[in-house]
Amino acid sequence: MTENNKFDVRVYITQRIPEIGIKMLKDKGYEVDVSQKDGILSKDEFLTAVKAKPYDAVLCLLTNQINSEVYDVVPTSKIFANYAVGYNNIDVAEATKRGITVTNTPGALTDSVAEHTVALIVSTALRIVEADKYLRAGNYKGWEPLGFLGLDLKGKTVGVLGAGRIGYRVGQILKKGFEMNVIYYDVKKNDMFEKDLGAKFYESPEELMKVSDVVTVHVPLLDSTKHLINEVRLKMMKPTAFLVNTSRGPVVDEVALVSTLRNRVIAGAGLDVFENEPALAPGLADLPNIVITPHIASATKPARDGMAVLAAQNIIDFLEGKTPANKVTG
Ligand code: NAD
Repeated sequence: MTENNKFDVRVYITQRIPEIGIKMLKDKGYEVDVSQKDGILSKDEFLTAVKAKPYDAVLCLLTNQINSEVYDVVPTSKIFANYAVGYNNIDVAEATKRGITVTNTPGALTDSVAEHTVALIVSTALRIVEADKYLRAGNYKGWEPLGFLGLDLKGKTVGVLGAGRIGYRVGQILKKGFEMNVIYYDVKKNDMFEKDLGAKFYESPEELMKVSDVVTVHVPLLDSTKHLINEVRLKMMKPTAFLVNTSRGPVVDEVALVSTLRNRVIAGAGLDVFENEPALAPGLADLPNIVITPHIASATKPARDGMAVLAAQNIIDFLEGKTPANKVTG
């Protein structure tokens, strides 16, 4: 990219992101178009928007499905920079076949997602939301010796499924702050888990789920992880245990989870992600023993700003002929 033609570069952003990232792209002299819709573009709106101009780059969100149809309508864009660490919304294999680069935003949101995960664990185990609703409904008649008994976390076992960046940080907070025993399962062993957290590696998700008081899920959504948490595995958990998922909704069989919680096969659950977002499985929202948040685990200013910076830098590097630091390979 020469100084002379950089003014001909066009970038499309599918939904407003923090200004810091938009400014980085504008400061490079690129023409930056940001969707003006207040909300997620429908598939048709998205296709119409990206074919309006010969865009050189698209900054997309996890709510955009990026596949052959998109690659066909905007053949000038050889980079799709996802504003997320997960990239299950993008057909990376097809992109690679076509010589298209895909990037993500790892690291920037690790602390935020880990802290949100711990918040869900604490809220479910100590029944915070249930008690809040009870109080607001005017049901509190005075201190009760047997009211809202929960599970204290100290000395209990947390099983981390998916021992990557977020899983590690969750394990670290729970080990150092709550003195929990950390165990983990992953497709590969992680030395940091074992050395820093004294965490034992389990050979299978089943073995881990059987002995954990809290199971926390941090795997990417892949064919191999869809319904990793299914009815059979949920039934292996202790009846006093909690499940928390801040990874991707389809990793948990949500219908199976509803019946598991309704029948008190496990004690409770905390979810930030859902199988068919924004819809919830029938009955899920009526359960008293679940805490649900609307996919907000990365919703802190530092995390969202950091994601915007990474996504913009990935585009800039690519357009300047460098390999972006966060190129994904599928
Ligand atoms: P990461 O790549 O550092 O960690 C993922 C881990 O999962 C890796 O260690 C990997 O080996 C492991 N893994 C892959 N397949 C597995 C399998 N079949 N069984 C067990 N382990 C497996 O990613 P990260 O930064 O920790 O993020 C994890 C996921 O969290 C992302 O993929 C994303 O989907 C999700 N996420 C959600 C939010 C949110 O807003 N709720 C925000 C950020 C990330």
